[in-house]
Amino acid sequence: MGTEWMADGLCREYSPETFFPRDGMGVIVAQRICAECPVKAPCLEYALSNRVDHGVWGGTSERERRRILRAHRLARLPSSHT
Ligand code: SF4
Repeated sequence: MGTEWMADGLCREYSPETFFPRDGMGVIVAQRICAECPVKAPCLEYALSNRVDHGVWGGTSERERRRILRAHRLARLPSSHT
């Protein structure tokens, strides 16, 4: 996946630390910016496919991305009911 979308990210107008918050309040601040961002979807896709551990990407926290990846893995598991 390319990174052309990054040029349109709203985070370019903020300091990088904004998207690497130290606490929950900082996460909320970053997520509010992401909510208005025109490239939120490719940003999240990029973070998920590259297993980006740190920071807020595509409006998701580190914990939320771990949860999404776990759900994806579980969805790919063969069903035990067959
Ligand atoms: S979704 Fe958030 S982290 Fe991603 S490019 Fe937009 S503002 Fe930046």
